[in-house]
Amino acid sequence: MRVERIADRGHLLTFDDEISLYLISGKMFDLLCDTHLGPVSIEEINSYLKIKPENHRLLIFNSHSDWDHIWGNCVFRDHIIIGHEMCRQRMNERGAFDLIQNAAQKRGDVELIPPNLTFSDELTLEDEGIRFTYAPGHTVDSTVCYDMTDEVLYLGDLVEDPIPYLDAYDLDQYIDTLTSLLDHPARILISAHSGLVTRDLIKENIAYIRAVRDETLIDSAHLGSYGPVHRWNLNMRLIHEVVRQEKSGRNSELVKVLMDAGDLHDQDPVQLKSRLLGFASRLS
Ligand SMILES: [Zn+2]
Repeated sequence: MRVERIADRGHLLTFDDEISLYLISGKMFDLLCDTHLGPVSIEEINSYLKIKPENHRLLIFNSHSDWDHIWGNCVFRDHIIIGHEMCRQRMNERGAFDLIQNAAQKRGDVELIPPNLTFSDELTLEDEGIRFTYAPGHTVDSTVCYDMTDEVLYLGDLVEDPIPYLDAYDLDQYIDTLTSLLDHPARILISAHSGLVTRDLIKENIAYIRAVRDETLIDSAHLGSYGPVHRWNLNMRLIHEVVRQEKSGRNSELVKVLMDAGDLHDQDPVQLKSRLLGFASRLS
């Protein structure tokens, strides 16, 4: 694991799979943004989490409920875990599926522990100068964490180099979120999968999301190892379209279709589309 001090009170902790957590050492609290893949990951960063002065407490924050950012939560079941109310809901609805689907990635014994302090729009730790703001787009529950003292913004998976995963269907909302982040006062921007990022990358991500929304043909050759991510994004949109035909159209239906669909990184969108017609009739 790499440890980089990127601001006065902020450390970027990056694992061998290039997933980063961000640790803010505040006045009364330390705040750990995301928890990686399980207890073994947390053991690796334990020396950085050790309680320093007396009564100094550790808070946990979940940027969203995707499995590769929350499986270490179970180490912190007695702590305050902050997340959006939909982060808790989404984890409860599809966390078990993700745990089975990605079992090979677990680091230690993982138990799903959702956030126990939730909010809808914004939550501020006033004395610490830390603000959590709802920023939907990558997922419906995505949230950013801003350290106003260091002017560091932790973006979770909202921005990724070269393209982000499009898990949520509403791409207009994603574009709105990223556009508003372009004007954010932050000095340093952190992506959970791409480390320190720039506003130029945000602009490139917006252009990509627009192209997918408008069904513009995208040449995936220049995406390199992210070609399968582009395929995943196209397949996920097809699945959302099927699920949205259902009146309830919620995560439980989404999970049903995902269980049958296989790895979306590998599927040919054209073939998946014809298979989905079968799922659609079974759902209704
Ligand atoms: Zn994610």
